[in-house]
Amino acid sequence: MSPTFQSQNARTGEILPGEFHEATPHQIDAALRAAVDAFRTFRQTSADKRAQFLERIAAGVEAVAEDLIELADQETALGRPRLPGELARACNGARMFAAMVREGSWVDARIDTALPDRKPAPKPDIRLMHRPVGPVVVFGASNFPFAISVIGSDTVAALAVGCPVVVKAHPAHPHTCERLAAIVKDAARESGLPDGVFTMVHGRSHEVGTALVAHPATEAVAFTGSLRGGRALFDVASKRERPVPVYAEMGSLNPVFLLPRALVARGEQIAEGFVASLTLGTGQFCTNPAMVLAPHGASLDFFLSEAGRRVAAVAPASMLHRGIHQAYEQGVNRIQALQDVLVTARAAGADQSKCQASAVLFETDSETYFKHPEVLREEVFGPSSVVLRCTGQADMIRFAESMDGSLSATLHGTPEDLAEFSELIEVLQTKVGRLVINGYPTGLEVCPSLHHGGPYPATTHSHFTSIGLSAFLRFVRPLCFQDVPEMLLPEELRDSNPRGIWRLVNGVRTQSAVAS
Ligand code: NAP
Repeated sequence: MSPTFQSQNARTGEILPGEFHEATPHQIDAALRAAVDAFRTFRQTSADKRAQFLERIAAGVEAVAEDLIELADQETALGRPRLPGELARACNGARMFAAMVREGSWVDARIDTALPDRKPAPKPDIRLMHRPVGPVVVFGASNFPFAISVIGSDTVAALAVGCPVVVKAHPAHPHTCERLAAIVKDAARESGLPDGVFTMVHGRSHEVGTALVAHPATEAVAFTGSLRGGRALFDVASKRERPVPVYAEMGSLNPVFLLPRALVARGEQIAEGFVASLTLGTGQFCTNPAMVLAPHGASLDFFLSEAGRRVAAVAPASMLHRGIHQAYEQGVNRIQALQDVLVTARAAGADQSKCQASAVLFETDSETYFKHPEVLREEVFGPSSVVLRCTGQADMIRFAESMDGSLSATLHGTPEDLAEFSELIEVLQTKVGRLVINGYPTGLEVCPSLHHGGPYPATTHSHFTSIGLSAFLRFVRPLCFQDVPEMLLPEELRDSNPRGIWRLVNGVRTQSAVAS
């Protein structure tokens, strides 16, 4: 019998009824073997069938939305309106990929027809399109029980392109995972798809995750979580006899730069928006603004007093689970222990027995940052941020050049500020996946042009995104067909273009058939 674990009420610590078994090596092997079997048929299913599968998942989730929200609230303490909004985002994501599959142009078909009489050598007929890679292992994050978990972007993007999925349920919300997995399984059955198209396993030990990544049938891994976890799994995959990609989306500092004229003109307004972004969801976002840089002086002092006043007034709230709460307290204590770092403000009244976090704002100068980069560069997951007093643009550029890859960077500036700080903006573009002007890094707009990624350690592959329409690109690979007869070609590459998709034919984007 494998070890078991139980879930907890995130607010009270009360053990919730029901037990979850750690997946055994045999169960992990069975899940991946079933995925390999399913892949044989799943990759050939029609676009309509896969789209219906995704739509059934969305409809199944919506049909029991209230139950799911209540369950997820018990396990995560994320509450309303956050959880209903996140559930809607996850269902919209499934439908977005359903629409992409039906439309069909995602395969990026390219056709270069033959020129048999070309001199000095004939040109062959070459055609290219995306094909699914095979079984994908998905690890969701504790802070998104719907949108980055069992039915999240990784799962629906992989299923959309024909890859079977094995999910490792997040041990911090296993009941929610279990309910969601049952909905996906039902949707697969109703769609006439083999069972192995989707499997979920539980595990609280790292052995389960490690075994999933190490399994020879796993073709790609999608991970969202901590740098430590993502890096550990990346290393496991790299050491396999046949390495496979681990697309790990991890945390980052998401620095916010306050430029001088904007700080003078809008200090209070920026303080208000910044504190709202910092404390949203008890700061449990990978896009949380953990560092602020601004020129020292009276305007920054005013900003600090406004932001500090607001931080002190934020009611402490329960974090996702005990481990995250402990890590937050330890991270805050590490910063607080540094010489020359001041606590600008800290909300009072946190009940430690309920894993409540109080928001904290620190201030220091850029010199202190450069003395203790190992502490100040590390993400503290929760509502904590450090304000660095800078001497000018050169100081900010020095920070930007030294900073790790980040999911985002934000600047608040007037048009004159932005022109003056263009060199800083240029450097930041080499360090981040998303540049935000006069806004805040939290609150992603999920749409085709979104990129949620960034240079390491924000992610392990900065070319890809885990959120938004392009997320599917992690689960496909190009396959080139040279001089392959029409009857053997996938329909997307046939001359007649039976699906009417957009293709690049002899360098021209078109929906037309190939002229004979
Ligand atoms: P986590 O502790 O890394 O857990 C994620 C998953 O990975 C869990 O299933 C976990 O299982 C497993 N895992 C962790 N370390 C492992 C290891 N060494 N070997 C095998 N499996 C391992 O992350 P989390 O606490 O759920 O989420 C919070 C973090 O996620 C924050 O750092 C946040 O910034 C980041 N995040 C990033 C994004 C993004 O899109 N970039 C989005 C949301 C959150 P166990 O719990 O059993 O260890």
